[in-house]
Amino acid sequence: MEIKGIQKTSMIDYPGKMSAVIFVPKCTFRCCFCYNVDLVTGWEKLDTIDEREILNFLKGRKKWLDGVVITGGEPTGHKGLPGFLRKVKGLGYAVKVDTNGSNPYMLEDLIKEGLVDYIAMDIKGPKERYDEICRVKVNMKLIEMSIERIRNSGLGYEFRTTAAPGIITKDDITKIGEWIKGAKRYYIQQFFPRRTLDGKLQNSKPYKPEELEKMAEAAKPFFEKVEIRG
Ligand code: SF4
Repeated sequence: MEIKGIQKTSMIDYPGKMSAVIFVPKCTFRCCFCYNVDLVTGWEKLDTIDEREILNFLKGRKKWLDGVVITGGEPTGHKGLPGFLRKVKGLGYAVKVDTNGSNPYMLEDLIKEGLVDYIAMDIKGPKERYDEICRVKVNMKLIEMSIERIRNSGLGYEFRTTAAPGIITKDDITKIGEWIKGAKRYYIQQFFPRRTLDGKLQNSKPYKPEELEKMAEAAKPFFEKVEIRG
């Protein structure tokens, strides 16, 4: 599989696990608040890391790590993902996949074959605002299929929304709650000003903690657990 980066240790990317985070390139979305600018629009210029190098690293870290996170970019667009995850699972690791939900068929394959243990899916905004936020024409049928498949997977999962200032409002969080109500875990993620796909956002002032708290309150009636992250 095409791999462009690895963070060798993370305590925050896989709930309850010490993990390595693997970055893959390319994404069909162009979210205005995306931080992974090079993986989405400049991936051709990034060096590819040999899969064997990653697997050797993981083999040697079994004593210290218990999870592997695949993120991007969008992992589910990579045909090589199941093959790579078979090898990672073969080493005994728990696997978390981050996704924008655009490829429910790949998620289905991973779930059926037992190649993923935890799925984190971004909910970019209320469904009627997806095109505007993701800056592409989004097939919402696929997004809805992914949400359903994840909810019925029996696996650990979370849905999450980045609280991009000036983009996502408390009303949007309520609409998201109405849309995916009953889900187990919902995270509202703080936005950190840094390089973003839409350059206008990178100097935006993040929401204050009390504003995020109000968003979390708006979400609480709809989910088993709501948390603010960041
Ligand atoms: S934030 Fe959006 S554009 Fe960036 S990798 Fe995720 S889905 Fe793709």
